Amino acid sequence: MRVGGSDPIREAARLLVDRRNAVALTGAGISVESGIPSFRGAQGMWGKYDPMEYATLHAFMKSPRKVWEMLSEMVSVCGGAAPNAAHKGLAALEEMGVVRAVITQNVDGLHQAAGSRRVIEYHGNMEELLCVYCWKRYTTRERWAPGAVPLCDCGEVLKPNVVLFGDPIPWLAQEQAEEEARSCGTLVVIGTSAQVSPACDIPRIAKESGAAVVEINPEETSLSRNVTDIHLQGSASEVLRLLMEELSRGG
Ligand SMILES: [Zn+2]
Repeated sequence: MRVGGSDPIREAARLLVDRRNAVALTGAGISVESGIPSFRGAQGMWGKYDPMEYATLHAFMKSPRKVWEMLSEMVSVCGGAAPNAAHKGLAALEEMGVVRAVITQNVDGLHQAAGSRRVIEYHGNMEELLCVYCWKRYTTRERWAPGAVPLCDCGEVLKPNVVLFGDPIPWLAQEQAEEEARSCGTLVVIGTSAQVSPACDIPRIAKESGAAVVEINPEETSLSRNVTDIHLQGSASEVLRLLMEELSRGG
């Protein structure tokens, strides 16, 4: 079903309309245009903070104050970011009844800020803090201030409700994501090569269950060669804009 000479945007729009029940799987690439750097690569968070020292559950339990040097930067970056045209495009597609859910690996909350209603957060989000000793929860806004380490009423250091290396994926999010993958008509993968487990299972599950896979990534990925039916090469916002235009013309 790989598209050769024809217009891939038109083909993708037709798939979305014909098959219905599209689900999006998003990753860091969709938030880059909102100023949130990807974790990987020299400019990413992991170029500055060694993830083994700053992003594992073990590191947090051992020295939470040190790990908060990195977390504070994440809270600041996420808190100051606004949804871009790609987030808004996905929310509009949900409003139009084309997309029914977004599964995201991002923790920035930008899909909800753009207006998406059904968002499955694989890796949690930065908007909530929890105590791993007494399990009390707080909003980040009520407990965190720049330069300070947020504390629970019980005196322990709070952890953001995000998945660190060594943390399990929230089981409900995983169940819901796999159910969406099994029952969607089209899976639209945006801004991720979906290589990290268990997000990497989603395109495979969708494909094996009979869904078409549309990929929106600037570069070719391992998905493009293995599971993608139509690869729309370009930035997430530009490709979604073209796709919306095509859909509003009637697919
Ligand atoms: Zn506590």
